[in-house]
Amino acid sequence: MKLKLAIQKSGRLHDDSIRLLKECGIDISNGVNKLKAEATNFPIEVYFLRDDDIPQYVEDAVADIGFVGENVVYEKRKKVTVVEKLGFGKCRLSMAVRRGEEYMDASFLNGKKIATSYPVIVENFLKEKNITAEIHEISGSVEIAPGIGLADAICDLVSSGSTLFMNGLKEAETILQSQAVLIRNNQLEDAKTQLLNRLLFRIQSVKKAKNNKYILLNAPNDKLAEIIALLPGMKSPTVLPLADPGWSSVHSVLNENEFWDIIEQLKAAGAQGILVVPIEKMIV
Ligand code: ATP
Ligand code: ZN
Repeated sequence: MKLKLAIQKSGRLHDDSIRLLKECGIDISNGVNKLKAEATNFPIEVYFLRDDDIPQYVEDAVADIGFVGENVVYEKRKKVTVVEKLGFGKCRLSMAVRRGEEYMDASFLNGKKIATSYPVIVENFLKEKNITAEIHEISGSVEIAPGIGLADAICDLVSSGSTLFMNGLKEAETILQSQAVLIRNNQLEDAKTQLLNRLLFRIQSVKKAKNNKYILLNAPNDKLAEIIALLPGMKSPTVLPLADPGWSSVHSVLNENEFWDIIEQLKAAGAQGILVVPIEKMIV
């Protein structure tokens, strides 16, 4: 029995999808030029597909699970379940208008023409805001639509905004924050659900490790209590005596979000020789 995973054949999500599998200890043997590849060390079979087709294949159980952008999942409205955010492929779906235009809020769009490759998401957005606008679906190069008089606004994926800028447009409002997610078929048999749970456990360990750093520091013993109080750690920090009798070595784990704040406080409290080390996997 093998778990069938669909990932993007080529494009923005491909490399990160392969990398995540690798970090989960799953190596894909044959090249990506084929339609599918098998892992040698985990019962998984990887299918390489266009990202737009992945939700359909997962709904139809051609693939059991898939890695795909949330933007595609919401646009395609297939009967699949989003199981886990994967932390890569981050982008936003935004409304953009000509640079000279004054866009105060979405009411700007009333009676306007909007070009997009995401008609479903845009329609939901307009409905929610009680706005009537005309949606023009185009499949690519959406950003040129205002310039050629096809639309007054566009709704497209943005990361840096440089494409918008080059086309005389400005980002007006974000309507969806997106990243790659793991989706699953809604009727997975038990044996496959178990395989999925094993894969999820690995993915979560990799994600946690990325968000955390291992920290080692030297603390004068009279400041030890104060320093330990600053460290959250997995349980409590490890404290080891140093050869110098007045000092101890303290080891702990810090979350990326609070990292710099805590480092500053540790220094202020008298910690020295602070070392910060990446963590490869984190099993909690
Ligand atoms: P395919 O041939 O598989 O259909 P594509 O041209 O539709 O590829 P890509 O441009 O490779 O797709 O983007 C795939 C996904 O990557 C997007 O659906 C989105 O979730 C994500 N993504 C991340 N950053 C960006 C960005 N700056 N622009 C577009 N997509 C992005
Ligand atoms: Zn696509």
